[in-house]
Amino acid sequence: MITFYPGPSKVYPVVEHYLKQAFDEGVLSINHRSQTCMQITRSAIDLLHQKLHIPADYTIYFVSSATEVWEIIAQSLTQRHSLHLYNGAFGDKWAEYAGRILPQVSRVFYDYEQSIEEILLPDSDADVVCLTHNETSNGTHLKQWNTILQKYPEALIAVDATSSMAGVELDWQSADIWFASVQKCFGLPAGMAVMVCSPKALRHAEIIGDRKYYNSLLFMNDNFKKYQTHYTPNVLEIYLLSKILEQIPDISETSARIEAQAKEWYDFFEEHFDADLTNGGVKPLIQIPALRSDTVLAIEAQPAVVKHIKQIMEAQGITLGNGYGAWKDSTFRIANFPAISEADRLALREQLLLHLPNKAVVTV
Ligand SMILES: *Cc1c(COP(=O)(O)O)cnc(C)c1O
Repeated sequence: MITFYPGPSKVYPVVEHYLKQAFDEGVLSINHRSQTCMQITRSAIDLLHQKLHIPADYTIYFVSSATEVWEIIAQSLTQRHSLHLYNGAFGDKWAEYAGRILPQVSRVFYDYEQSIEEILLPDSDADVVCLTHNETSNGTHLKQWNTILQKYPEALIAVDATSSMAGVELDWQSADIWFASVQKCFGLPAGMAVMVCSPKALRHAEIIGDRKYYNSLLFMNDNFKKYQTHYTPNVLEIYLLSKILEQIPDISETSARIEAQAKEWYDFFEEHFDADLTNGGVKPLIQIPALRSDTVLAIEAQPAVVKHIKQIMEAQGITLGNGYGAWKDSTFRIANFPAISEADRLALREQLLLHLPNKAVVTV
């Protein structure tokens, strides 16, 4: 089965081997306070620092999902309110979840064809500014947010990198809280998320002093200092993460490959297909190259064409990602995650060439 779904997404084929190995080694039944479990957790954390270049003074936690991190930020890292800058469905959902916990959240919704550098930033005493590094719903990404760092020097910057962490290199120092669930660029089955905090984030947590919840950050931090977790964790997933991290290349190498592949994809659509949607054509939803995500592509077409192409691909054993949020019917999405192979990409390209209206060849 070939899948380009942007989460849950294709897992590394070698996961099959490590699943069996975990079973054979008895990992599935170990006590979560045991030395073995602490070693597995430590290995995964050390490898995350090493392979993804996470700074040594940033701390790493395992929780159940990116959605849980949205809650942890609201509970443990926000005293007054959070400010949410977003252009799509995941950023919107985050603001909505935070709003259920906090008495107040501020929202700045910007157009998906606008750069975050251009938006008018409101004066705000928000504790946390929330950004979506890769907006999985519309295929946009943020390259940097210097204007935000300058405008809100006191605030913590929290970045949802769910569909980009482990796919592209991140500038860790440019934010205080980063998180991603493992079913996207990590190429693992769903059910766990990685949360990364700067020393400044922990200082803020100390001042706020939240210890009310099982997943209060300070309580999690006490446990992770001992390479333990605040609840019985998904040990199998931590094990798989450590094994996958052992074998994947350094993030600089992966990042270069993912960027080159993304460029190939965008060029492919622009070169081969009629961009006139009324003609049954297709084109990347995002027309400004600098805003285009490297890890998730949203391709726009008329709803009937989207439906048709997804059905045709499904019949060929290729799953495309559905559109999401506002773009549910008018786009399909293609994940460009590290676990997806060259053979998979070639198969999809070949089928698209066969089934989408090609650009008219003009001869003079
Ligand atoms: C997938 C996704 C989420 C949700 O992840 P869960 O692990 O299901 O909580 C959040 N944010 C973004 C940007 C995503 O792509």
